[in-house]
Amino acid sequence: MKVAVFSTKPYDEQFLAQANQASHQHELVFLEPRLNAATAALAKGFDAVCVFVNDQVDANVLEQLAAGGTRAVALRCAGFNNVDLKAAERLGIAVVRVPAYSPYAVAEHTAALILTLNRQIHRAYHRIRDGNFALDGLLGFDLRGRTVGVVGTGQIGVEVVRIMRGFGCRVLCYDLHANPEAQTLGAEYVSLDELFRKADIVTLHCPLTPDTHHLIDAAAVAKMKKGVMLINTSRGAMVDTAAIIEGLKSGQVGYLGLDVYEEESDLFFEDLSNIVLKDDVFARLLTFPNVVITGHQAFFTRNALESIAHTTLSNLTDLETGGECANRVLAANGST
Ligand code: NAD
Repeated sequence: MKVAVFSTKPYDEQFLAQANQASHQHELVFLEPRLNAATAALAKGFDAVCVFVNDQVDANVLEQLAAGGTRAVALRCAGFNNVDLKAAERLGIAVVRVPAYSPYAVAEHTAALILTLNRQIHRAYHRIRDGNFALDGLLGFDLRGRTVGVVGTGQIGVEVVRIMRGFGCRVLCYDLHANPEAQTLGAEYVSLDELFRKADIVTLHCPLTPDTHHLIDAAAVAKMKKGVMLINTSRGAMVDTAAIIEGLKSGQVGYLGLDVYEEESDLFFEDLSNIVLKDDVFARLLTFPNVVITGHQAFFTRNALESIAHTTLSNLTDLETGGECANRVLAANGST
């Protein structure tokens, strides 16, 4: 297939080109711009587009793609909240994704955020470089015996359960469907309210859907334990950032670890270090000593990139050869 790869970074090109050379023969054209209404014309004449989390694959873009002859959208990620699946189906454009590449990468990054916030590694790093060896303000707590609330126990959530059980934590879970593996690991399913009330650490691992949009709002924060640690490595819009900022100011939220942010598409994956930050909400988040933000890097391991490249190209090969693609996303799967 002739594939326009949007939002290409050097690492995307490296891993996709390697995998293509090894076992596929697609014609890949790497494009730096994001896919949106203004750039969709670049895909004219291409059989497929390959996109990432912040490309805009809405009805308008899909109509332009269809008019240009494109018949497949290959997401090189798991989440598909940025694709209008109903419009894709109506236009006869197949949407495929990489449902699993390395749940370990995201689960381990979640653990990294928890440990960084608890033991204040982000602050200690700067202190030591500044010749300040005082410990005041760096006091942490033992994870052993603490209660972790895992919201969403699919592939990533269950790995978070495994890791936190390894630390000796009690783990409470909430999901629409219980995962027996989480129960085997000793986790307990409870209502969302009970999880909010009892957890010392709340970590989000479900997809962004209309049901999970602003799942963590002012009412949810009010139900949580005072000083709770909140971690979001899922999708930014699951958290109402303004409500969290109020929680941080009042001390209701004691720690915040984010790998995703509601307005991240204006910021993440680009070097903006020479540009004035215009997002006042994000700027406010950066002022808190008990907030650690990473720029959607939880997936970013060598293993994950190899796996993403192989699955993305196999998905395209499946579509090209007319075979069933197990990783096809249908409108029935739900999209926002
Ligand atoms: P998954 O499909 O294996 O698991 C998702 C779980 O969420 C399922 O068990 C599902 O039943 C549950 N769920 C769905 N709606 C729910 C709701 N309303 N309330 C509670 N639970 C609900 O997905 P996964 O591979 O574990 O990934 C989870 C999410 O992590 C993805 O949707 C994506 O948004 C995010 N993600 C982030 C990164 C990153 O780099 N930060 C990388 C990969 C995935």
